[in-house]
Amino acid sequence: MSLTKRIWISFTLVIMVGLVLSLIIRDSGEKAGIKSRNLVSVALPKLDLIKQLRASITEHERLLYEYYASTTRDELWPQIQQTEQDLATQLIDINKGFAGHVMSLPKLYGDIKALQRSLDRNLSSPRTNWDQARADLALLTQAGKAAEDILVTLTHEVEQQAQQQAQDTQAQIDTIVDLVILYTLMIIFIALIMGYFTQVNIRRTAKRKALAKFPERNPNPVMNLNWQGHIQFANPAAYRLLESTHPGSSKLTDILPDDFHDNLKRWQTNHESIVNFDAKIGRCHCQFSLSLLQDLESCHLYIEDVTERKEAQAQLEFQALHDTHTGLPNRRKFEIDLSEQIRRKQPCSLLFLSIDRFKFITSSQGYHAGDGILLNLGKRLSHISSTLSCQVKSYRLEGNTFCLMVLHPDTHEVNHVIRDIQNAMDNALYVNQHSYFLSLSMGYCHFPQDGDTPQTLISNGHAALNHARVQGNNVEAYNMQLHASEQTWLPIERGMRQALVREEFVMFYQAKVDAINGKITGAEALIRWFKPDGDMVSPATFIPVAEQTGLIIQIGHWVIEQGFVQAQHFQQQGHDIQVAINISARQFQYRHFLEQLQNLLSKTGVNPKHIELEITESLIMENAEHSIGIMKQLKKMGFALAIDDFGTGYSSLSYLKQFPIDSLKIDQAFVRNLEHDEDDKNIVAAIIALAQHLNLKTIAEGVETHEQWQILKAMKCDYIQGYYFSKPDRAELLLT
Ligand code: C2E
Ligand code: CA
Ligand code: CA
Repeated sequence: MSLTKRIWISFTLVIMVGLVLSLIIRDSGEKAGIKSRNLVSVALPKLDLIKQLRASITEHERLLYEYYASTTRDELWPQIQQTEQDLATQLIDINKGFAGHVMSLPKLYGDIKALQRSLDRNLSSPRTNWDQARADLALLTQAGKAAEDILVTLTHEVEQQAQQQAQDTQAQIDTIVDLVILYTLMIIFIALIMGYFTQVNIRRTAKRKALAKFPERNPNPVMNLNWQGHIQFANPAAYRLLESTHPGSSKLTDILPDDFHDNLKRWQTNHESIVNFDAKIGRCHCQFSLSLLQDLESCHLYIEDVTERKEAQAQLEFQALHDTHTGLPNRRKFEIDLSEQIRRKQPCSLLFLSIDRFKFITSSQGYHAGDGILLNLGKRLSHISSTLSCQVKSYRLEGNTFCLMVLHPDTHEVNHVIRDIQNAMDNALYVNQHSYFLSLSMGYCHFPQDGDTPQTLISNGHAALNHARVQGNNVEAYNMQLHASEQTWLPIERGMRQALVREEFVMFYQAKVDAINGKITGAEALIRWFKPDGDMVSPATFIPVAEQTGLIIQIGHWVIEQGFVQAQHFQQQGHDIQVAINISARQFQYRHFLEQLQNLLSKTGVNPKHIELEITESLIMENAEHSIGIMKQLKKMGFALAIDDFGTGYSSLSYLKQFPIDSLKIDQAFVRNLEHDEDDKNIVAAIIALAQHLNLKTIAEGVETHEQWQILKAMKCDYIQGYYFSKPDRAELLLT
């Protein structure tokens, strides 16, 4: 039963009980009134009458005795008569009042009246009979006494009646008081109960109100729909969503998906209880959760705007699959796309490319320049990809390695892509107002021709790129031999280990002559490997393998020792010939390199000033600061230092000034065509001028003709080295 109903029932009950009690009280009050009125109007006058009568009887008796005693009739008789009259009147009244209950009184009155007459006659006669008079008086007293007795009895009777009535009235009043108290208690009790329920109700209402606030205050849209899908309630958040997705609209159905009502019918027929779905409302991504309450024929719809979360998720996905620096898809994305391409069996070409000598750019120009170059190259590749007729996707795989995935039905497409890239690279890239002309190495392979798994395709593409990179500014297609050439390393490596033990290495020396007079001033130590079958392996073949495998440390140690021994030999023979020894990158970076040199100096006893260490320009620039440190120590030990293959690297002038070197060796690439090529001539002239400016000696290598010598001599090149003067050969043949 509802609380309001209960309260109404309680009210009605109180009113009804009140009415009944009022009727009872009124009835009791009336009865008490009657009784008290009776007491006042009947009993009291009766008593008064009795009292008067008793007084009159006494008075009458007293007057007659006085009359007897004084016999003064004239004086007393009127009084006696008057009293007797009064007695008569009072008797009549009493008779009326008691309605014949006192029949003996009139008789007594008659007796009194007769005795009074008899006494009067006797006393007023001249012969008064005193005895008779006394007897009459005695009788009179007797009659008075009898009347008195009757009247006393009457008085008692009346008093009893009055007392009974007073008691009755008191009882009535008591009943009324009891009823009033009962009613009051009942009202208090009901009031308490009602108070309790009202309080409970207030609390419940407050609770309900608080519960009602729950959807109101929910920051997410909440709606209640009837079974037909009409919106019955929507919280403020629902209106806020409406305002943000459909500004100005008041149609809440706008924030429901278009197919919502069709789906609702389907869900209802399928007896679904909870349905979750996503939908895009305007620009917002929303997640909906619909509860279908079949028994209540109503639906609760909860909406959550997950736009920010979705965007953050998309951002995270983007970051996971893209390179933060260039914004291009990254290696992971590349592998995903490639796997998808393979799964769909759609042919494609993978073009891997890297920037030649990128390390030297970063070490000489700083990482910011390197980053700028990567960013711009990424943009340039994306731009080229977008202008091509076939679909091309660009990726940055790692470091300075990029990859283009060319989707095509024809493997020739990749050549167009390469040509466009090469054309584009003719234009400089600008970073911080500096222009960079980059040369790229590219290697490519095709799916499905060159592999059918992402791993083989990536490995083959890289093999092609590596091969191209060795030569620089080159494009290489993948073929089986690429791996084969890598596989030829193994026998070389194994052979070299044995060669050290079997002493298959021999040192050759090539003269370095004074450009002016052609006199030998030095000799470059160049290693040769003679196999047991007499075949000679070129250092150009095995030195790179030795570098890769680390064997160069042992081989280099042997070379240095041989060079030191030979230099000491030349000195002992009286020839002032400085021996130049080639130092490879791996040796230079070797932790115990300086220690090794020191030990060999002690062991051979050679003066380091008779030794020149040749270090390639690119090697120094790989880590310029560190290299300068080592060069300074070498210089301190007393060695002469030369930069080999000068002009092919990226030496910055600012660094060159800091190098503690003695000479520059002009790369043979500039010497080869010196007679015919003006550019080469200019470059060589510039290098010589630079060297002079920095107080360095110059050595031109690869001089094969007299003309080349003459040109270099004219240019004031200090030393010459080349086949024109001597081919590398055994030391003993050098001076012949
Ligand atoms: P490199 O240091 O630039 O040595 C000069 C190369 O040019 C030598 O080739 C030499 O034989 C060759 N050459 C000299 N004059 C002429 C010339 O007039 N015309 C032509 N066409 N070539 C000439 P080689 O001996 O085959 O050495 C090749 C490279 O191997 C060297 O280049 C050097 O980088 C490396 N190498 C040679 N011996 C050693 C060594 O003992 N230790 C290390 N670490 N590297 C070495
Ligand atoms: Ca050299
Ligand atoms: Ca050289």
